[in-house]
Amino acid sequence: MVETVIHDAHVVVDEGWEIPGGWVALDGGRVHAVGGPGDPQPTATHRVDAGGRLLTPGLVNTHHHMYQNLTRAYAPAINGSLFQWLTTLYPLWARLDEEAVHLSTYVGIAELLLGGCTTSSDHLYVHPRPNLIDAQVAAAREIGFRFMATRGSMTRSVDDGGLPPREVVQDEETILADSERLVARYHDPSPGALTRVALAPCSMFSVSESIMRSTAELAEQHDVRLHTHLAEDRDEDVYSQEVYGCRPVEYFERVGWASSRSWVAHYVYGSETENRRLADAGVSATQCPSSNMILAGDTADAMALRGLGMAVGLGCDGSASNDAASMWLETRGALLLGRYRHGPGSMTARDALSMATRGGARNLGWDDEIGHLRPGACADVVVWESLPLTLAGALTDPVEAWLRTGPSRAWSSFVGGRELVRQGELLLGGLEDVLRRHRAVATAIQGLG
Ligand SMILES: [Zn+2]
Repeated sequence: MVETVIHDAHVVVDEGWEIPGGWVALDGGRVHAVGGPGDPQPTATHRVDAGGRLLTPGLVNTHHHMYQNLTRAYAPAINGSLFQWLTTLYPLWARLDEEAVHLSTYVGIAELLLGGCTTSSDHLYVHPRPNLIDAQVAAAREIGFRFMATRGSMTRSVDDGGLPPREVVQDEETILADSERLVARYHDPSPGALTRVALAPCSMFSVSESIMRSTAELAEQHDVRLHTHLAEDRDEDVYSQEVYGCRPVEYFERVGWASSRSWVAHYVYGSETENRRLADAGVSATQCPSSNMILAGDTADAMALRGLGMAVGLGCDGSASNDAASMWLETRGALLLGRYRHGPGSMTARDALSMATRGGARNLGWDDEIGHLRPGACADVVVWESLPLTLAGALTDPVEAWLRTGPSRAWSSFVGGRELVRQGELLLGGLEDVLRRHRAVATAIQGLG
């Protein structure tokens, strides 16, 4: 007897392994077994009839700033460049406190669940008050969501030639001590963990060279992952040359980050030789399609990077740059950008799905357990819903149909074998109350109340 069997689904177990009319058995937080229509199914306490829908591994979001959903579509910032956008919003973000971070993380995760995501990292790099990451972990645990908190940091304010105001930056000792505290308290390296911690200085514009080095050393010492923004904007080339006397990727290498411990957000402007060097070093990247397009920058050449052996995952980014937080949307965005760049034969829905699952899991150093549904993997499963109307006529390829029609969202989601979405509805008590409080906090932060 197992806990759950989801049957009558087109099951995507992993890259190159699909089972039409298949089933998946979940037990003890793990994928217990998978099978086809002719294979005997284990008896189960809970049976879910997927009604022929597509079933995939839960999508993995590897770059996000959930607190930004408190300032989504903020009118004074929406038409600025990346730097104008940041400098308009920093003073608002300086008002963040534990309650604001708890609420925005809760809302961010709920939204991600509906978009078919079952694991997310989050990059919280403004720390006007202490214990904000603690509030994030608390929200993720209340929901039962798989979460990699990344301890972001900024040391260089406008006073030192950086972009952010003084209230949101911290000194190096404070950052390193809090990073150690968070790793000791929340990082769970054990198999099947729901909470892990990574270290994540924000970007070369906002942190000192020495905090980049000491963070890399700390990560090595505690065996946790490293994350930052890299080569997101052309302005970075100029800044890097002026401040560090080299190109961004050279700087990244110089501070000891070019290793398989690191994954970087965006990575748009690497040269061909730099791409090869980072791929060879085992660095992986997160493409953020919607964010790149809405801020009108360029975007990573994901298929070329994958061709070099670099893992490329996907991220919602934002929320105040992208404003949406649907990993389905990002997966479709990746497909559209890839094909727009290299032609219709260059990328398939399965390539995009691979980025959103296996690619993301590799970003997080977690591909032994998530991003696929081989027996023994974490029981992180999504059954997808599209409107019957928009799926009408899509009869020949359920994976292409999933990404080409839509919009699609989770019809059923399990994280660690626990059902969090049922028939399209979030199984979260008190969401209305959270949204009411979120609105009050967002109103105050935006100075509207
Ligand atoms: Zn970002």
